[in-house]
Formats: sequence, C-alpha cells, structure tokens
Amino acid sequence: MSRTPLSGFSSRAIHHGYDPTENHGALTPPMHMASTFAFDSAEQGGAIFAGEQPGYFYSRISNPTLDLLEQRIATLEGADAGVATASGMGAITAVMWTLLSAGDEIVTDKTLYGCTFAFFRHGLTKFGVKVTHVDLTDPSALEAAMNDMVKLVYFETPANPNMRLVDIAAISEVAHARGAQVVVDNTYATPAITRPVELGADVVVHSATKYLGGHGDLVGGLVVGSAETMQRVRLEGLKDMTGAVMSPFTATLIMRGLKTLALRMERHSKTALEVARWLEAQPQVAAVHYPGLESFGHHALARRQMALPGGMIAFDLAGGYDQGIRFMNRLNMIVRAVSLGDAETLVQHPASMTHSTYTAEERTAHGIGEGLLRLSIGLEDAEDIFADLEQALTASDLSIAA
Ligand SMILES: *Cc1c(COP(=O)(O)O)cnc(C)c1O
Repeated sequence: MSRTPLSGFSSRAIHHGYDPTENHGALTPPMHMASTFAFDSAEQGGAIFAGEQPGYFYSRISNPTLDLLEQRIATLEGADAGVATASGMGAITAVMWTLLSAGDEIVTDKTLYGCTFAFFRHGLTKFGVKVTHVDLTDPSALEAAMNDMVKLVYFETPANPNMRLVDIAAISEVAHARGAQVVVDNTYATPAITRPVELGADVVVHSATKYLGGHGDLVGGLVVGSAETMQRVRLEGLKDMTGAVMSPFTATLIMRGLKTLALRMERHSKTALEVARWLEAQPQVAAVHYPGLESFGHHALARRQMALPGGMIAFDLAGGYDQGIRFMNRLNMIVRAVSLGDAETLVQHPASMTHSTYTAEERTAHGIGEGLLRLSIGLEDAEDIFADLEQALTASDLSIAA
C-alpha cells in the first residue's frame, strides 16, 4: 500500500494491509475461498514452489485472506509476522512441534489452560520433551529451574483460570540470558491490553476463538513472532505436522472482530471492574481475583503490564463447591458455558469443565481451587449483569431464610 502507515491501534485494526482501490473498490477485503492457485507457466509454478518467487500455490501453506489477517495481528502485536491456524490449540501445537526436539526441556508456569496442560503433560512428554512446572510469578524461581537443555519458557498472563500474572519483561530477561525463547499465550489480555513482544517475548500465541473473534461464532488461532520463526512455524509445524489450517471464512470473521477489539476491551474492562468491586463487597464471596482490584496480589504488575484490567474475573464463594453449583444453576441471563470473550456474559466451573484435564491432585498443586468460578464479563448493560448476579448469589446462600 502506498498510504502512510497508520499509528493508531484501531486504525490499523481497521485498515492495515488493505487498499480497496486494488480490489474493485470493495470496502471489505474479498474472501479467497480457493484451495489451489493457477500458475502462469510450469516454470513460474516451480519458482513459487522453490520459494524463488512470491506467490500462492495451496491454501494449507498460505492464502491471500489469511495473509491479510496475519499482517493485521502482527502489526497489532508489534511483531514482524504472523501465522493463522485452525484453533488456539492448533497455534500452540504448531509452535511447539516446530521449536522443540526430543531431549529438549521446557519450563512453564503452574497454571495453564486445561488443553495446553494436557498437551504438555501427555503430548510433548510422549515424544521425549521434559516439561517442568515452576511458579513463574517469581522470576528467581525460573533462574533456579534453568539449565542448558531448556529451549522454551511458556506461560499465560493473566493465566486461565485463576488470573495469576507473570512479569513478561523479567521472565524474558532470565530466559534469554540462558539462551531460551519465550512463548506467551496472550488470549486473556489481547494486544489491546498487553503486547508481549514489545516487552521481550519471542512468540505470542492466541486462541482467536475468544476476544479477537469476539462473537462466539468461530474457532481459530494466531501466532506472531519474527519473520524467520513464523516461516518455520508455517512450513514445519503447520504445513507438515498439524495441518490445522484456518478457513478464509474464519479469517474474515476475525478481521471483522478486530475492528472493534479496542472498543470491546474498554467496555469489558469497565463493567468487569464494577462487577469485581461489587463481588468483593458481598458476604457470600470469599475471594475475588481481578487485576483491577487494589487487593489483587499482582496489582502493581497489572498497572505496569496491562493497559486495562480486562474482562475476566475468577472468584470463590464462601460456601465452596456446592454453593458454586447452586449459584450457576440460578443464573438467568448469564450463560453457563465455557469459552470467553464474547458479547454474552459467560460463567463456568474450571474444576469440572475447562480444567478437568488436570487430576484433582494436580489442580490443588497448581492453585486451581475446586470451588473457583470463572466469569467472562460480556457487553450487556451493567445493570442487567448485576441484577442476575445478585439474585443468583442470594438464592445460592442457604444461610438466608427464604
Ligand atoms: C481457549 C484457550 C486456548 C485454546 O484455544 P482454542 O481456540 O479453543 O483451541 C488456549 N489458551 C487459552 C488461554 C484459552 O483460553
């Protein structure tokens, strides 16, 4: 594009990499639902295959619609390049299969999304990669765990589901000093709130299913990092090992979602902060874990590392597991569902749902309480969210005579 580069986050989310005048004036980018691409000549086909000439040849490797989405997520994350995948797990597995070999070790945090935990625990270890869980909220714990076989340090911040925050700059410094790369799952924060690459991380992975898509109507994943690493992830992990390629239709929906990402994160964060403060004041609530609360253990880090506190809240009810189940069953508008980042407020119980991939002992060891509830605050009017929470909380409290 000949236009001057745009500086604003939302302007780039809306315009980056696309010029309507090159596409019949179409305001929105065309969707290239093509599996294969015609060559001008046999020689040209050979040159594209050999990488001697740019061009598309098969949509498992690249596609113009995915290419535009990849450029957009890269600019929003402050990275050189991106790769789109069929799901968040497709993104994580493509990165791991590319960057690790048998005999390597990775160090990861204690808290991980359930399927990531299962992939590390049962997938990577099956192929001879050693996985060590360390409390990465303490950079000196990483220092102590490092050795020359550690190739990657991997974490989420905030972590799913208990909201632990990891200091990206401090961890990157320790990892890089020992020659390891840092991979951050930025699903919870999104680049509208935290940009790990700008803080020193090497690779960022996303479940685009969540806030980036933002409307609960797709499953997708994204990876960003250096152009060289992304080319390797595309040609090794994605093309030959997972084959987990995103559909151009999904890419189109994610680009629609990205246009309102900053706007949505502001509204999610505003309502979530109000809800977290309110929950904290309720006698039935034992603990609230939310980066925007002064009582939050990593509040100072949240202020440094997060532009906004985000839309996710974890909390424990005083009545434990049983009250949690009663509370969830009493909700009316708020939807009992896994996933997050949608317009609808969603509630789920990690121990029996997203984190049932851990054994009960593993959950205890990794700080995921049996009674913990996870709220994804939606875009509804705050008064309706409050009214639903309040009536369900009262109804769940057996100590209140009905
Ligand atoms: C949902 C999620 C994933 C997995 O993404 P999918 O799109 O469901 O494959 C990975 N990490 C985090 C933090 C998630 O919330």
